[in-house]
Amino acid sequence: MSFNKIEHIGIAVKSLESSKKIYEKLLGVSAYKDEKVVSEGVVTSFFQIGKTKIELLAALNDNSPIHKFIEKKGEGFHHIAYEVDDIELETNRLKKEGFIFIYEQPKEGADNKLVNFIHPKSAGGILVEICQEKK
Ligand code: ZN
Repeated sequence: MSFNKIEHIGIAVKSLESSKKIYEKLLGVSAYKDEKVVSEGVVTSFFQIGKTKIELLAALNDNSPIHKFIEKKGEGFHHIAYEVDDIELETNRLKKEGFIFIYEQPKEGADNKLVNFIHPKSAGGILVEICQEKK
């Protein structure tokens, strides 16, 4: 019962193709996976860095939260994701602590995960994802 590690850092980008090239040069590895999450309106690319990952997120359409984010703030840091053992338990614990979640219940995210997000206004200005590997 705990937070285990920083699972990944999410970065909002305008173009997945051009940002992938930058990150491949920067990190010296290729993305190991591209994945569309239609329910979130995003297309993602993942890079493995030791025990953690970098997730690039681009908008699938103009209604995407990533499109709105980039219009407001520009490209860059989007969210930090913590891996937890039990997402239901942590969601309930954090709600009791007063954190405001974007979704009532954890939902399916990219990379074989159940995910939920804590609103930045209740978490010091940072969008926080908690995620658990689907078993
Ligand atoms: Zn994420």
